Amino acid sequence: MIDLHSHTTESDGTFSPAQLVEEAVRSGVRILGITDHDTFSGFDQALPLARKAGLELVCGIELSTKLNGYSVHLLGYFLRADGLGDLRTWIGDLQASRRDRNVRLIARLRELGLDITLDEVQARGGGMTGRPHFAQVLIEKGYVKSMQQAFDDYLDESAKGYVTRREPQFAEAVQHIRKAGGIASLAHPIRLREDVAALMPSLRTAGLNAIEAYHSDHSPEQTALYLQLADQHGLLVTGGSDFHGAVKPEIHLGTGRNGNLRIPEDVVDRLRAG
Ligand code: AMP
Ligand code: FE
Ligand code: FE
Ligand code: ZN
Repeated sequence: MIDLHSHTTESDGTFSPAQLVEEAVRSGVRILGITDHDTFSGFDQALPLARKAGLELVCGIELSTKLNGYSVHLLGYFLRADGLGDLRTWIGDLQASRRDRNVRLIARLRELGLDITLDEVQARGGGMTGRPHFAQVLIEKGYVKSMQQAFDDYLDESAKGYVTRREPQFAEAVQHIRKAGGIASLAHPIRLREDVAALMPSLRTAGLNAIEAYHSDHSPEQTALYLQLADQHGLLVTGGSDFHGAVKPEIHLGTGRNGNLRIPEDVVDRLRAG
């Protein structure tokens, strides 16, 4: 089994890198991609553990980008994880802009009358403190009942607590991934606000070279559409569960949402060949 999309406690997952490696072995995943948001730290920690466990690890990352004013997630895969120096520097800049946003987001939420501090969210987020960690604190303090309500009432782009963060443009992020020798794959295309088929030529022009056809949020029909678009536009294909652990308990490593995912065994071979 193969799974090329997963998160650890180094971003917004609840499994530590060591626990994720264990979970992969337990569930029969043979090749695992770790794609934390804006950081390689989970992959770096998991690598020696995976080697010991006989698990093949693929170095990955998930970047939040802006495309036509909308937020679009982009996956980067590095089949050879050396020589990522420049990319790591650039990612350091993204992390700094996130920290600056978090300071302003705390101020905004406090202005709205919520008792929440930077220390509290950072205790849950560590190196990559993001809005899901803010949501967690709001739930724990009883301001909201669920992650969804936290976003709807306070954190979503359309909600009253939202503050902007400098996110890279889609094309800029693609270029950084490609320059580092990586494969740039459009994450969970079902979540795009715009029609993906219509966007495809401009995504190709930006340098995109893969699409995540297989994902826990995709129906078989949607997967078929993305495979067809990949074929039509000469894109490689990636796939993964988007495992986050206990925050999304219905999603399982390797098999997706209650078993709805089956990623062909040759996906990684094709990435290598491509
Ligand atoms: P950040 O990168 O800190 O701005 O947080 C973005 C993350 O928050 C995304 O990767 C999603 O996991 C989560 N997220 C964003 N919007 C929503 C939403 N409306 N509902 C639930 N989770 C969301
Ligand atoms: Fe996430
Ligand atoms: Fe995502
Ligand atoms: Zn993800």
